[in-house]
Amino acid sequence: MKLYSPATINEIKNKHGFRLSKSLGQNFLTDKNIIDKIIEKSNIGKQDLVIEIGPGIGVLTAAAAEEAGKVIAIEIDRKLIPILKETLSEYNNIEIRNSDVLKTDIKEIMEQNQEISGQKREGVKILGNLPYYITTPIIMKILEDRVPADSITIMLQKEVADRIKAAPGSKTYGALSVAVQYYCTVAHVANAPKEIFVPQPKVDSTVIRLDIRKEKPVQLNSEAAFFAVVRAGFGQRRKTLLNALTGVYGLAKDEIAVVMATAGIDPVRRAETLSLEEFASLANTIQP
Ligand code: SAM
Repeated sequence: MKLYSPATINEIKNKHGFRLSKSLGQNFLTDKNIIDKIIEKSNIGKQDLVIEIGPGIGVLTAAAAEEAGKVIAIEIDRKLIPILKETLSEYNNIEIRNSDVLKTDIKEIMEQNQEISGQKREGVKILGNLPYYITTPIIMKILEDRVPADSITIMLQKEVADRIKAAPGSKTYGALSVAVQYYCTVAHVANAPKEIFVPQPKVDSTVIRLDIRKEKPVQLNSEAAFFAVVRAGFGQRRKTLLNALTGVYGLAKDEIAVVMATAGIDPVRRAETLSLEEFASLANTIQP
């Protein structure tokens, strides 16, 4: 069954009396090239577990199941469950779960699936095309909970993907870029213009892959201090760092000036010019 074909999507809707939910962000992918690219760039191995978030009618699920040892698909909309059971009936390596991913313990799923077909599981690849309003929260939840997966390949609103990928010095570089890049390296997977979805959303998308770092990119005395500095720096991004950081940990302006001098950071710089290493050095000076 060509699950990416708009005709098939219509047929499924009619047969099951299914109505697309705008509030659940149900815009289905209809471009085979993009689907192939997402799967190819997810680097799925035969003994890997894929955890897919928001399978819809199963277009990525089926493609992932061709490559993976096992796919666990988490879908919030219970009306899609009988549809998924039907569209994916030819696969015996797919488990469909009806739950809200924000309330799902992904670590527990990984612990429960240490073996696939009686053999040791290898990689864990997370995959998702989700409604935009939960994409950033779910990425941050996976990263902050230290879910020990290898990667997250995810569709995002183009502007959000640009912010995540941004390098120091660019206009889109901000707290989200620093936070995600602290936990991951970021790779571009594909552009997904709005025309390739049914129904068509208002904005274009980008697919990126976040490879979760096995080792931290910078040594921190305190992660809390690092994120406090990042938040304060970008909280008032037009201000010089000296002004933006005044008040962090109750420090007065002259104390921040000493911190900056010790860390070797010019006080007139702005947060958007600082690398991960420079934020780390500031944080380690504030919290030795
Ligand atoms: N993966 C399919 C595709 O690419 O065509 C569907 C993508 S659609 C943009 C998003 C899917 O995520 C919908 O099926 C929606 O019901 C589901 N979804 C929305 N919120 C969710 C949540 N909190 N947990 C799990 N699934 C969710």
